[in-house]
Amino acid sequence: MNSTDVIVVGAGFAGLIAARELSHRGLKVTILEARDRVAGRTHLDERMGRNLELGGTWVHWTQPYVWAEMGRYGIEPVAGPEFTKAYWTVNGRRREGGADELLDLLDAPNRALLADARRYFPLPWSPLANPAVADIDHLTVSHVIDGLQLGEDERELLRSFWALNFNGKLDEAAYTQALRWCAVATGHWQVMFEACATFKIAGGTRRLAEAILDDSGADLRLGHPVVAVRQDGATAVAETVDGQRFTGKQLVLALPLSVLNGISIEPALSPTKVAAAARGQAGRGAKLWIKVAGRQERFVAMGPATAPLNFVQAEYIDEDTTTLVCFGPDAAAVDVEDVDAAQRHLDALVPGMTVLEIAGHDWVDDPNSRSTWPMHYAGYLTRSLAELQRPEGRIHLAGSDFADGWGGFIDGAIESGLRAARNVAHELGRGDRTSVAADAAAVPA
Ligand SMILES: Cc1cc2nc3c(=O)[nH]c(=O)nc-3n(C[C@H](O)[C@H](O)[C@H](O)COP(=O)(O)OP(=O)(O)OC[C@H]3O[C@@H](n4cnc5c(N)ncnc54)[C@H](O)[C@@H]3O)c2cc1C
Repeated sequence: MNSTDVIVVGAGFAGLIAARELSHRGLKVTILEARDRVAGRTHLDERMGRNLELGGTWVHWTQPYVWAEMGRYGIEPVAGPEFTKAYWTVNGRRREGGADELLDLLDAPNRALLADARRYFPLPWSPLANPAVADIDHLTVSHVIDGLQLGEDERELLRSFWALNFNGKLDEAAYTQALRWCAVATGHWQVMFEACATFKIAGGTRRLAEAILDDSGADLRLGHPVVAVRQDGATAVAETVDGQRFTGKQLVLALPLSVLNGISIEPALSPTKVAAAARGQAGRGAKLWIKVAGRQERFVAMGPATAPLNFVQAEYIDEDTTTLVCFGPDAAAVDVEDVDAAQRHLDALVPGMTVLEIAGHDWVDDPNSRSTWPMHYAGYLTRSLAELQRPEGRIHLAGSDFADGWGGFIDGAIESGLRAARNVAHELGRGDRTSVAADAAAVPA
């Protein structure tokens, strides 16, 4: 039996931050991580001759937690390319023009969709502050788009844009999540879009994750998948797949919501938590890197919301080749190893490009994630979020899935890891608890 003060299960950004904060408060922390690496749903890997981000990538100064962490470790942001050219397919017809033209086409429909973002989320980091949110939390993005007065082309482009944002299917995607997301990005959709695809971390996500880990002094055990967690009056115990047992005074489960029910937890978590985990998240799409022949223009391309790949962006433009980053709403429709299929998917969006190589990771098929970026189903916010944030005895959930602000992003993972650490520290007499009722600072509807 390995004994420690706090066990952290999962070494994604949420787990690493929780571990660092607790170590800095003088507590002994052991991190149990299933994979042979840290950083979870971010993964900088050498593929196709360069370091590519297979998972989470982009950050922004409207994301206060990740930005502060970069500043803390002296890590700079790097800007991506600016786009000049765009292709978009609407109603079966491919159009092309300037990138600004496509942004203009997306402007009016996004303004219509997101007009109420700041009204419903006046304090974006207190997402339940306005009780009127409960009246709209059953709506899907698809439902709301259908009800807008839009031309057919505008509607189709808007659907594609939001299938991209959710990395999932619009008839599952929570409208409140779209509004929250816009609200945390100052209430302007262009800022929101910039935040999600413009600035990267110099040296990659791995550099930031490793800086946090190095600063933590925690005992990291890679290749330690946890299969069972138990708590009683005095301790919490985590058991790994090979039967090793770790005991602590408190335990942070810093895991994706979608994998939570794969672990035996005794006593069981509340029915609301279990039901939310069974449903998982709507972000179940694909991210694929494609290297094509030739030095291409700085372009973006959008296709129909249901296309296997519905968004392409020319990310690295070299002398003889161009490397594209692509997204699609359904991981099952994209084989990250099938070059011929990638060629077909690309042909449907952009003319005349020859695929040389592809690279990607199927995060939905991966037992350690079962989802990509955690975008919520309709109803999640009002039915599940507060309860998921509530510690049960010695067990605390942490992760981007459970964030108040940038839920779904690296920023949200860090925010949530900080919350879990505060609550654990309080339990162990090392600080103040986060007020679970912080939303009581309610703003009148
Ligand atoms: C393709 C893709 C693109 C994305 N793009 C962006 C982006 O551009 N910007 C952005 O901010 N965010 C992006 N995200 C989202 C972002 O990466 C995540 O929200 C964030 O990294 C989640 O961190 P986390 O700590 O909450 O969870 P995770 O990173 O999933 O960490 C959970 C950890 O738990 C481990 N684990 C799982 N099961 C067990 C077990 N049984 N025992 C022990 N350990 C276990 C996992 O291996 C993992 O290390 C993207 C995600 C994906 C997949």
